Amino acid sequence: MFFPFQFPFILKCLNYGFIVISMFMIAMPSQAADIPLTDDEKAWLKNHSNIRLAVDIAWPPFEYIDENNNYVGMSSEYIDLVSKKLGIEFIVEKEKPWAAVVEAVKNRELDMYSSVLETEQRREYVNFTKPYLSFPMVIVTSDKVTYVDGIRDLRNESVAVVKGYATQDLLEKNHPELNLYRAENLTEALKAVSLGKVFAYIGNIASVSETLKREGLTNLKVSGQTPYKFDLSMAVRKDWPELIPILQKALDSITVAQQDEIHQHWIKLRYDYEADYSFLWKVLLAVAFVVGLILLWNRRLSQEVRRRTEAETQLKKTHQRLELGLRGGDLGLWDWNIQTNVIQINDRWLTMLGMPVDRTEINFDFWNNLLHEDDKPAVQVAVQRLLDKEEEYYDEEFRMLSASGEYLWMRSRGQIVEWSKTGEPIRAAGVHQDITELKKARVELEQAHQQLMNYVDIVDKYVITSSTDEKGLINYVSEAFCKISGYSQEELIGTSHSILRHRDMPAALYEDLWSTISKGKTWQGEIKNRKKNGDFYWVDAYISPILDSNNQIEGYTAIRQDITDKKLAEQLSITDELTALYNRRYFNLIFPQELARAEREKKHIALLIIDVDYFKPYNDNYGHLHGDAALKAIGNVFKDILRRAGDFAFRIGGEEFGAILTFDEDRVAENMAERIRREVEDLKIEHDYSPASPYVTVSIGMKIHHSGGDLPPEMTQLYKMADEALYQAKEQGRNQVKIDYGVDLSAGNPDIHLLKS
Ligand code: GH3
Ligand code: MG
Ligand code: MG
Repeated sequence: MFFPFQFPFILKCLNYGFIVISMFMIAMPSQAADIPLTDDEKAWLKNHSNIRLAVDIAWPPFEYIDENNNYVGMSSEYIDLVSKKLGIEFIVEKEKPWAAVVEAVKNRELDMYSSVLETEQRREYVNFTKPYLSFPMVIVTSDKVTYVDGIRDLRNESVAVVKGYATQDLLEKNHPELNLYRAENLTEALKAVSLGKVFAYIGNIASVSETLKREGLTNLKVSGQTPYKFDLSMAVRKDWPELIPILQKALDSITVAQQDEIHQHWIKLRYDYEADYSFLWKVLLAVAFVVGLILLWNRRLSQEVRRRTEAETQLKKTHQRLELGLRGGDLGLWDWNIQTNVIQINDRWLTMLGMPVDRTEINFDFWNNLLHEDDKPAVQVAVQRLLDKEEEYYDEEFRMLSASGEYLWMRSRGQIVEWSKTGEPIRAAGVHQDITELKKARVELEQAHQQLMNYVDIVDKYVITSSTDEKGLINYVSEAFCKISGYSQEELIGTSHSILRHRDMPAALYEDLWSTISKGKTWQGEIKNRKKNGDFYWVDAYISPILDSNNQIEGYTAIRQDITDKKLAEQLSITDELTALYNRRYFNLIFPQELARAEREKKHIALLIIDVDYFKPYNDNYGHLHGDAALKAIGNVFKDILRRAGDFAFRIGGEEFGAILTFDEDRVAENMAERIRREVEDLKIEHDYSPASPYVTVSIGMKIHHSGGDLPPEMTQLYKMADEALYQAKEQGRNQVKIDYGVDLSAGNPDIHLLKS
């Protein structure tokens, strides 16, 4: 609601009515009885019956010397009354300008001021009565200025004051932000405002209105108020303290009616020369008073409305931002008045639970009833801790019953947002977030993690796995790895896999392994490893590089399968039980491979077929067991001699053996064959029934195949040729070696076989 009058009208009223009604009268007792002076006071007055009075000769309407040299003005009337009541005479100094008057009081050439403001400076040389006149200090500006909202609106504006007036002191001290213009007198000050030299004048309303009127400064008006008052007192030289209570008693005895009369007199005077509309004026005064009040109230109200509108706009913006934030985070809002137990909620709070948006608040019990029974105790504790200030924040997860009857998981976070002066919590506010899906996902994740951990456990227990850094130093080994190798984790970590290296494994295998994995590829192969206790185990290993985010190798990882049993079975299937040499099956398997390898490596290869001489008679005469023992002993000779890589010895069947040799020069094969023959005889196994020797002997047929021949060798052909050479050895007396150096049968010229014993 705004006041319906136009502002300029109101301000015009201010220029007249408001000025007058704003004068304050000092409350004084109403009876004008005899003044109850003490004897001492009476005596003092007797001795000081002529009091020299300091007045301002040019300060209407308070006091001034009129054109008839009379001391007049509001103060002069009070002085008159006091003079009569006390029976004393005041001698008025009518000549001196104000500055000279002040000096005279200080020098005790004058005894008291008729009406002055009480200031700190003056307190040093005079004592004051209580104020008997009081006026507000107002702000005067050009009438083009609509309104000045107190002194703070004048910040950095030029403001006129009269030199030596109490206002100068006051403003200099309390308002350094003002730009003061110090005028010689009030007329000059107001003219400066009128001419636009300065923005405003600050002074008491009584003298302002008087001067405006007198000087006809119609373009000025009172535009605002200050919090300061203009209080006038009488003041007496300091060495006359006795006079103060006497004056006070006189002032106190002035009745309200008398005061009224003085004020009316001076108010009337101002308008007398226009017309005697005193009654109308009184009505106008009353109207103006009401108008002034309404204006003031209205101004406050509009300020308040403006402030509130601003605050509301701000709040709206904040609220919008909050809503956006809440929507973005999909959050429900709650604001709990702890005293009333009413909880304000937003729409999302309801829709989150599938409830219709049919309310903006709920009570505490409504919420509490929705809580899952199992979650209530914990929530209760958390809320209590918040209220007891044990926790600053509240952050709980609980289930709430949704409209569909399903329980939804909520995360509720909040804090106390308002405290009473005594420190009691008044309001708590926070947000709800539906975390049902999150919770489900968390459970699933937990399960997946658990399963993964189970797998990791299983892998650790049962899979022989390890990893290394890029240099090959072990940084992880599984339990299964430790178990099979016999080493502990502590023993393995930081070392390299070479700790497990078995002497049966050729260096070439490791070279191949490293060259493969260091190129970023996976290597796979069977490796025989050595346990800590010297035993061996076989693994089928897959070794892969681990690449970092830049595709650089940062380590290697390997998983291995224990193939020891398989390897043993395999070994058995290719091993002759009696002699532990390879059997014929392995011979059939390995011979073509060795042939191809020799061809590849440009090495020569020899196939030896070895048959025990006259073994049937040996068996018949010494018995089968001795026969077996003899075969075993012969087998050991082969093992001893054929131990280089690429040498193989077989028991082909019965008392017939085979051997494969790889060599660069024929001489090597010749020597080895001869050595076998000799060492068997050197076993000195007695054989009384052999025409070839007193001991058990062997005959050897050897076929040498040189690599790079015209035709690829065929196993059956080579075998046949070695067998033929053996036949020759038997034919020619046994216990000897026959060698076939010739071209292969496939060359189609069997006659050129060169046989050598
Ligand atoms: P030759 O010098 O011509 O080879 O005369 P030989 O007596 O060795 O004749 P032959 O090769 O025909 O005889 C093989 C004999 O070897 C038959 C059998 O008594 C004996 N023999 C074969 N296998 C075994 C075996 O596993 N254990 C034993 N104790 N004797 C075997
Ligand atoms: Mg035989
Ligand atoms: Mg034989």
